[in-house]
Order: sequence, then C-alpha cells, then structure tokens
Amino acid sequence: RAKASGLGSYCFYDREMGTEVQERVRLLRNLRSAVQHDRLFLCFQPQVNLADGRIVGAEALLRWKAESGELIPPDRFIAIAEYSGLIVDIGQWVLRNACHRQVALAEAGFAGFRMAVNVSLAQFRHPRFIQTLQGAIADTGINPALLELEITESMAMLEPDYITGVIREVKALGVSVAVDDFGTGFSSLSYLQQLDVDRLKIDRGFIRAMQATGGTGGSIAQTVIQLGRNLGLSVIAEGVETVAQADALHQLGCDEAQGFLFARPMESTELAAWLAGLRDGYPLPY
Ligand code: C2E
Ligand code: MG
Ligand code: MG
Ligand code: MG
Repeated sequence: RAKASGLGSYCFYDREMGTEVQERVRLLRNLRSAVQHDRLFLCFQPQVNLADGRIVGAEALLRWKAESGELIPPDRFIAIAEYSGLIVDIGQWVLRNACHRQVALAEAGFAGFRMAVNVSLAQFRHPRFIQTLQGAIADTGINPALLELEITESMAMLEPDYITGVIREVKALGVSVAVDDFGTGFSSLSYLQQLDVDRLKIDRGFIRAMQATGGTGGSIAQTVIQLGRNLGLSVIAEGVETVAQADALHQLGCDEAQGFLFARPMESTELAAWLAGLRDGYPLPY
C-alpha cells in the first residue's frame, strides 16, 4: 500500500501501527501466562470514616508482578484484559480472593469490615455474572452486606436499562454497589435514582483540584456530597492525600475517604498488621 501511494511516510506509519499491535499481542500473551502462573495478586487500600477515624473497609486493587520483578499497574493491563475477555476469569479470581480476605479479617476480629471490589463492564455484562457472584459468596461464606462492587459512572452510563437490571440482582443478593470515579460521567439525577446504588465515590481528579486555589474541584466535590445527601447515598472521596483535603471534605459532609494520607494500597499481611495497630481508629488530625 505504501508503495502504491508512493509516500514514504505511509510506510513509516504502517510500521508504527505494527509495533503497537505487536506490543499489545505480547502484553496479552504475558498476561495470560501471569494468570496461569499466579503472578496476579491483590493489594488493599483502607477506607476511613471522616467523622471518627474508624476504618470501615478497604478496596481490593489488582497488581501484576512480572517475571522481571517489575510491578505492572492495572492501568496498563485492565484495558487489554477487558478487550480480550480475559477480565472475566481475572475478575472472578479477584472477587473470590477479596471475599476470602474479608472473611479472614472478620475472623481475626475486624467485624464489620467492608470489602470493595472493582468490576468491569465485560464482567457485568457476562450472562453468568450473578451466578459467579452467588458462588463467591456461598463458597467463601462472606456476609454479602460487607461486600461492595464498584462500577464506574461511565460504565453505568453505557447501557442504562441493562445495568439497572444487573444492579437490582446484585442488590437482591444483599451486596452493595458504589459508583466509582463519580463526576466524570454524565449521569442524571433521575438515572442515579433509578440505579439504586449505595455510595458515590468522588473521582480523585476533583479531590486533587481541591487544593488548587481557585480550582473548581472543591465545588464539584461539594456538589457530589450534596447530591449524595439528597438521594440518601453515602459519599466517599478517593485520592485524599492531604490533611487539608480530609478536613475540607469532612466539613462538607463527606462520609468516608481513601487515599495516601491514610494508607497506600498494601498486601494482605501488611493490611492486617496496619489494622491491628489502629483498633481505635485513624487519629484524625482535625
Ligand atoms: P480506581 O478503582 O478508581 O482505584 C483508585 C486508584 O487510585 C488506585 O490505583 C489507587 O492506588 C489510586 N490511589 C488511591 N489513593 C491515592 C492517592 O492518594 N493518590 C493517588 N495519586 N492515587 C491514589 P490503581 O491501584 O493503580 O488502580 C487503577 C485503576 O485500575 C482502578 O481505579 C480501577 O479502575 C482499575 N482496577 C484496579 N483493580 C481492579 C480490578 O480488580 N478489576 C478491575 N476491573 N479494575 C481494577
Ligand atoms: Mg475503584
Ligand atoms: Mg475510583
Ligand atoms: Mg479513579
């Protein structure tokens, strides 16, 4: 094709595309192998009640430890896992693993500890998703009230009727649902009400923008908190890194927070130790 057009730049362009495709094929092959060889694992990031410092739960976050020892973040492989369908198996593993961890923590005396699990659209759309969820609950013995699924706002917007139906089935099992990265999609008030979710999770971008003087992040966070209140939903902020952000969120009426200020995502043994050291809650600096 490049020859026929007589343009050298076309040839260059094609070769670039080829490299990108090859890179993706390689990544997918490595990811498949990582799944087979148990090189995926979960980290857990605590979630804190902003009123009293109580540790209310944690979000399970997927990690991939490459053979080289390099830690590959989810932003680099979730998309390809979704695209290839591999996310269905990975997601099922994540769900079971996170439920097992929650049960272990409950047995270790951390009663009422909630476990949040991210779920992709491809998982949610899978005809056996509810069965998978039911199986994970039955096999691990987790109290479903202490399991929460995080779906992104943009994902919830894609197929409103279908998603509404799946959420209804999830809720019928007693599992709660949070809308992740909230504020970046375009859900309407009436749609949110129809969705019947439990929690809104303010996107990190708005929390980051809170400290910028004159930034609009603060007013968006405030709007989301107000929205949650009006709809009777709990609100959690993600990406809280500073005392000023936590303090401001608390004053605005935000219920919970998660972020580097409190703790980074940790491996399960580290989490158990961290929790044991904070039986009286996180010492809030305000
Ligand atoms: P998310 O669900 O919005 O998760 C929050 C992300 O923010 C995590 O990145 C977390 O490490 C990061 N984070 C938390 N606190 C702070 C902070 O104070 N400052 C900053 N700069 N970052 C903070 P991570 O673990 O790299 O995950 C990225 C995304 O990958 C997640 O965003 C989620 O969409 C996706 N993901 C992670 N695990 C899974 C999974 O098991 N299944 C699916 N489907 N997606 C997952
Ligand atoms: Mg999340
Ligand atoms: Mg999030
Ligand atoms: Mg986010």
